[in-house]
Amino acid sequence: MPELPEVETIKEDLCALIVGSRIERAEVLAPSLIEQPSTDEFIHRLQDVGVSRAWRRAKHLIVELDSGDALVFQLKIGGQLLLVPPVEEPKTALMLVLYLDGDRRLFLRDETGFTRARLLGVAELEERLSSLGPEPLEEGFDAGYLPRKVGSRRAQIKPLLLDQKVISGIGNIYVDEILYDARLHPRRKANTITDVEWEALYTAIRQNLAAGVEHRGTTVRLYRDVLDRSGEHQNFLRVFEKHGRPCPRCEGEVVREKVGGRPTHFCPACQKEDGPGGGVGLESLW
Ligand SMILES: [Zn+2]
Repeated sequence: MPELPEVETIKEDLCALIVGSRIERAEVLAPSLIEQPSTDEFIHRLQDVGVSRAWRRAKHLIVELDSGDALVFQLKIGGQLLLVPPVEEPKTALMLVLYLDGDRRLFLRDETGFTRARLLGVAELEERLSSLGPEPLEEGFDAGYLPRKVGSRRAQIKPLLLDQKVISGIGNIYVDEILYDARLHPRRKANTITDVEWEALYTAIRQNLAAGVEHRGTTVRLYRDVLDRSGEHQNFLRVFEKHGRPCPRCEGEVVREKVGGRPTHFCPACQKEDGPGGGVGLESLW
């Protein structure tokens, strides 16, 4: 699903293309899209409202309206927001059309049907976002944060990085690339990670997400920006879906295994489960 860099790219597109426009009306083609309020109220509150701001928090895309409401999208794996009419089949993938001034339309399509939208008041929005962890590309996220937050936990590092309450915006593609750069095995227990490794992980998080934003996202299959263009970051992946291919660092073979229920790609030669700091030794004390 779209992660921080993809949602950030879509947000930037919306800032450039629809902030300042008016939504004349909304047409809901897939009522399953609307989590809150009712579909009727959703349509009613989206009649003749101005778009005042677009921003991102974690993987949430937030479109603020001059009515005080915020239209919040959680784009799932097939979620696309398009200003150009979608021409691909199946047509049933179309979930929502926002009719804008100037005879333009913003289409939300998702052939998997998992994308969700909410229309929230100010307090509801605040409540919804309150449990999210820090934004990894913002100032408040420093090298000491992760060891402080999860450094004593015996949980595996990959599921911890995917937990949006721990840190915002990282999903299954970027996490594998981040752990590869930090030379951490995805099953490594957080309480065995050394100071030097936490530092490497911090750097890898910032570098991978910043590169993803710079390359306007990763299109493995379905991700598109608002003008229906693919991202470029898929050309820079080293391990994600590269199983059976040589590791670019050591020429060992990249493997795919399930970790925390998610398909996980890594190089067992560069990312040793016990780690250079002797994680297994510490762990065996227990
Ligand atoms: Zn390797």
